[in-house]
Amino acid sequence: MQFPQALETVLETLERMREEGAHRPCASREMLAQLEKAGAVAPNSPQTRPSRTGTGNRSYQATVDIAPTRDTNSSGKLAAINERVCACVKCPNLANSRTQTVFGVGNPDADLMFVGEAPGADEDAQGEPFVGRAGQLLTKIIKAMGFTREEVYIANVLKCRPDTPGISYGNRPPTPTEMQTCRPYLMEQIDIIQPKVIVALGAVAVEGLLGARAPMHQLRGRWNSFNGTPLMVTYHPAYLLRNQSPSEKRKVWEDMMQVLERLEKPISEKQRSYFL
Ligand code: SF4
Repeated sequence: MQFPQALETVLETLERMREEGAHRPCASREMLAQLEKAGAVAPNSPQTRPSRTGTGNRSYQATVDIAPTRDTNSSGKLAAINERVCACVKCPNLANSRTQTVFGVGNPDADLMFVGEAPGADEDAQGEPFVGRAGQLLTKIIKAMGFTREEVYIANVLKCRPDTPGISYGNRPPTPTEMQTCRPYLMEQIDIIQPKVIVALGAVAVEGLLGARAPMHQLRGRWNSFNGTPLMVTYHPAYLLRNQSPSEKRKVWEDMMQVLERLEKPISEKQRSYFL
């Protein structure tokens, strides 16, 4: 299929979905960037042909064969999964109640990956994981470790906000069925990113990743293996917001220092004496 025809087909499909009342038909930023890139490359292609006007005010200048090519880079592969997540309705109640899916954010080739449980209200509204108060604390932890949010990868076990029928606020934990249904997307993300270390934030993330259930005071601070990748368990930042005790915050920081050691990152004296 040539580029203008492919783009026309995508746009027509999205328009038809909208007319049929589909809930927020969407395409990821990465996918739109790829389409834009394909369009930008086209004019220099030997297959360039005089411009034509398509439907409405759309006009195209070139022909590009895009069908047989396949993304081999991490970013493209993640974008392809995100396309499926965007359209996913495997949990009908969540698909109906969500504002949008929340896939993940950060470096597609990150050494360090954080996994939480599910989007909350802020994340559902913004389409990005860990952007609320707990997210701000996670960002602070990441910075204290010497990284930026863009250098690590952040995702959740569940890609949709767990619904709270009749209540417009608060969060509920995902059900085991919801986690099991959504888990394959996370598995694919980890497979592509291939982090050197995974940090599971909270008991739900541990259950989603390892299938293990136990009190957090027994789980945290210990190394596990996720298909051969070292996995550190620590408290969810939301727990630290509820429990402001310095000793609990210190525990999380000690867990993160273990992570830095595992990543063979130098730890400064300032970092060693740091308290969240
Ligand atoms: S939670 Fe996951 S499996 Fe369920 S509808 Fe959302 S994306 Fe699909």
